[in-house]
Amino acid sequence: MLERARVIAGLMAEACHELHSAWAPACRLRTRVGSGRATWHRYDPRRDDHCITIGALMVADKAQPALCGGWLSMREIQGRGYFGGTVSELNLLAHGCCHEFAHLLQTRAGGRRYGQVHNAVFYQWLDRLHQSGSATTLRSRLAEAAAAEGLPLATTPVTPAAETEALTRFSPGDRVAFGQGLQGRIRRVNRRTCTVDGTGPCRGRRYRVPPRMMTPIRETEPV
Ligand SMILES: [Zn+2]
Repeated sequence: MLERARVIAGLMAEACHELHSAWAPACRLRTRVGSGRATWHRYDPRRDDHCITIGALMVADKAQPALCGGWLSMREIQGRGYFGGTVSELNLLAHGCCHEFAHLLQTRAGGRRYGQVHNAVFYQWLDRLHQSGSATTLRSRLAEAAAAEGLPLATTPVTPAAETEALTRFSPGDRVAFGQGLQGRIRRVNRRTCTVDGTGPCRGRRYRVPPRMMTPIRETEPV
């Protein structure tokens, strides 16, 4: 799973370089794949270079878009109608490249201020990346590159509303199975996920699990 995520993160980094050649060839861009979730753009004025880090765990998260309720990328896709407002693994990852690259364009235009990272200037650049067709081109390239690696990216639309509805089937105290052989007891039902305390072999761990990944475990009937 993580190996898949690392390879895809590398392809996303390459996709950022394609945006770079098309939109801002004069500035210096480095990309790297991080091992964590963090995905960000950083500008070093002393060296005058931009660095975009793509977090492998972020990519792994996006393979389960049902988890995406609170993500900024989901809110941007839906709220601003990018890719027709459709949230899918492929759209989330392609948009993620555009999001980070928009920070480069924003910074270069002098539009990045401390404490106002996602400001109007940022969204002007992000809108431009989408409206110009660059985002769609990037999405096709990313899909092709991933498929060529034998790691196709899902295009199935995810509707967080359906997820919310699925949550009504669960209550605190329910025993559930999820993931690959994991089990636990629901501690709390959140807006998009359940907080689950591991039981049995998973004892001592805590998880946030989207409803579609959980199946209730029937308690043994008292005899
Ligand atoms: Zn950002």
